[in-house]
Amino acid sequence: MKYKSIILIIFLISLFSLSQVHAKTNDLTLLGKIIYLDPGHGGIDSGATSGKYLEKNLNLEITKKLATALGKKGAIVYLTRDGDYDLSDNNYSRKRSDLSNRARLINESNCDLYLSIHLNSSTDTSWRGIQVFYNNINSQNKEIATIMTNTIKQITSNIKNLKEDNNYYMYKQITVPGILIELGFISNKDDLYLLKQNQYQEKLAQIITKGIENYFQK
Ligand SMILES: [Zn+2]
Repeated sequence: MKYKSIILIIFLISLFSLSQVHAKTNDLTLLGKIIYLDPGHGGIDSGATSGKYLEKNLNLEITKKLATALGKKGAIVYLTRDGDYDLSDNNYSRKRSDLSNRARLINESNCDLYLSIHLNSSTDTSWRGIQVFYNNINSQNKEIATIMTNTIKQITSNIKNLKEDNNYYMYKQITVPGILIELGFISNKDDLYLLKQNQYQEKLAQIITKGIENYFQK
């Protein structure tokens, strides 16, 4: 009797783990894809601010959730920073040095895709919404920006049209495909209300992951 129940338990455990493995294999839509996430700012550079809320912290919180979501799909995820610091190694042109080092890390990684995560800000506090930016340095960038924008539009109308921007210092130096996403305006009270919430951050992580899946499955 005792042995029978042990065998039954072992059988049930293996059945359970088999179904787990099965579910996981089906979910690995980004298996082996190398994705570089770049949470903007850090350390001395807070980015945009609104009272006690700092862009650098919100960027990192959302990026970490995104890293987890992408990892669950089988992606190999790198972060330009995983704490509160910047990447500069030159105090005289700190910002340039920070951005150059981020670009160098991304270029040298041979990643399939990079995503720079930022928040927008405006003196006009009525401005709000997500916006995807791309540089036309390669043909894929616009395609990624288009697919990401369309994917995000499926769950929210709080998104602007994608925008080409060839002047931003960092992405002029990045040759691998990727985009920059401004996930909302920290200067707008409705956007900030959402952006600081765990649940909304999680929702953003899920929809961006979906956008990346859509790009690779095109
Ligand atoms: Zn920023």
